[in-house]
Amino acid sequence: MFKKILIANRGEIALRIQRACRELGVKAVMVYSEADREAKYIKLADESVCIGPAASAQSYLSMPAIIAAAEVTDAEAIHPGYGFLSENADFAERVEKSGFKFIGPTPESIRIMGDKVSAKQAMIRAGVPCVPGSEGALPDDPAIIKRTAKAVGYPVIIKAAGGGGGRGMRVVHTEAALIHAVQTTKAEAGAAFGNPAVYMEKFLQNPRHIEIQIMADQHKNAVWLGERDCSMQRRHQKVIEEAPAPGVPRKLIEKIGERCVAAVKKIGYRGAGTFEFLYENGEFYFIEMNTRVQVEHPVTEWITGVDIVKTQIMVAAGERLPFTQRQIEIKGHSIECRINAEDPYKFTPSPGRITTWHAPGGPGVRVDSHIYANYFVPPNYDSMIGKIIVHGDTREQALARMRTALAETVVEGINTNIALHRELMVDAKFVDGGTNIHYLEEWLSQRQR
Ligand code: ADP
Repeated sequence: MFKKILIANRGEIALRIQRACRELGVKAVMVYSEADREAKYIKLADESVCIGPAASAQSYLSMPAIIAAAEVTDAEAIHPGYGFLSENADFAERVEKSGFKFIGPTPESIRIMGDKVSAKQAMIRAGVPCVPGSEGALPDDPAIIKRTAKAVGYPVIIKAAGGGGGRGMRVVHTEAALIHAVQTTKAEAGAAFGNPAVYMEKFLQNPRHIEIQIMADQHKNAVWLGERDCSMQRRHQKVIEEAPAPGVPRKLIEKIGERCVAAVKKIGYRGAGTFEFLYENGEFYFIEMNTRVQVEHPVTEWITGVDIVKTQIMVAAGERLPFTQRQIEIKGHSIECRINAEDPYKFTPSPGRITTWHAPGGPGVRVDSHIYANYFVPPNYDSMIGKIIVHGDTREQALARMRTALAETVVEGINTNIALHRELMVDAKFVDGGTNIHYLEEWLSQRQR
């Protein structure tokens, strides 16, 4: 096992990784920007290093600053968390070239999966079902593009190969709009992601977003840890996640989970990863793979009993997976609400000083958050300030526990989306389970009227 790890992230996930280090008896080095200097989780670390000013580009996204911090503190490995540099193949490569272990997959895996066109091709080869669409990137020839769209069938969605975070996508309903949409998406993708390649997929009308968590070691062992339903989204951003996915036949999920494990073995993947699928009319369609720990990992931890972050560190150190597929048993139901510093209905960010913080508790309640009374939420980063996660023997019990947890929670001084979560936890359709990816936005637009 490593003696010391550097955590190249901030906020709740930095604290989550620090907690995993404690359990493993590994020393944790925290890096921070000037905006995070006063945060408590920095003071809890064994060592900490300021890596630059508030702007992410000069701190949490600065490869030289982070690698230099690992050098001066004699850390052996770097955990990138999620966001920031976590899916940057060049970073993973520089980390390993500088003599540190990157806690994640190989740079090659990140590169293949980071390009959605090559990811899809790898998945097709590995027998994972994908959304029907173009074979690889679209060529320039308008005639071929039109022919492809006709074969796929309208509506289609044009997606950037290098896209992420819900950006770089355009839905096209008619041939008249097709070529212009392709050209615009290409231009935007070139400017935003440095890669103008785009591809085409059938636009699924009412899918659910269901993803499979996998975990693999360097000794060809791989398992899948159940699924998560992340269909409650706004602007392609997840708001509520749960596991298992309500109402999906176990046999179907098992088939897809086994396919994911086969794919992982085939591509020689190591570490934690997530296969994201759209699910419609009883079929799963792969859309992309995330090569890192996800925000919503706690719901999987709770239904499987596996500590995903600890396991990430163990397999990066060369250890074998401490469990086999047969030992993975799904127990009960877990739900996560992302708590954001924002207006609950208008979504304008609400940074500032938290004056009151009362965290919920009791049986089946977990809070992953770095905040506290008098904590200042900096305006420079993502608005998520924590997550409330619950578990119950049944979905009904989990929902009841979430309602109680949200009722107990008090955050004052800034706005949060807790009020939104309280409403959604008693919404008849959500309570029934199985809402699709458009449900939350439709619900929000009706609520405003
Ligand atoms: P990103 O990497 O930006 O998150 P994804 O490929 O994961 O992009 O897609 C994000 C979201 O966009 C999905 O969760 C879904 O809501 C929507 N989406 C993507 N592809 C399709 C498709 N073929 N049909 C319908 N919706 C889609």
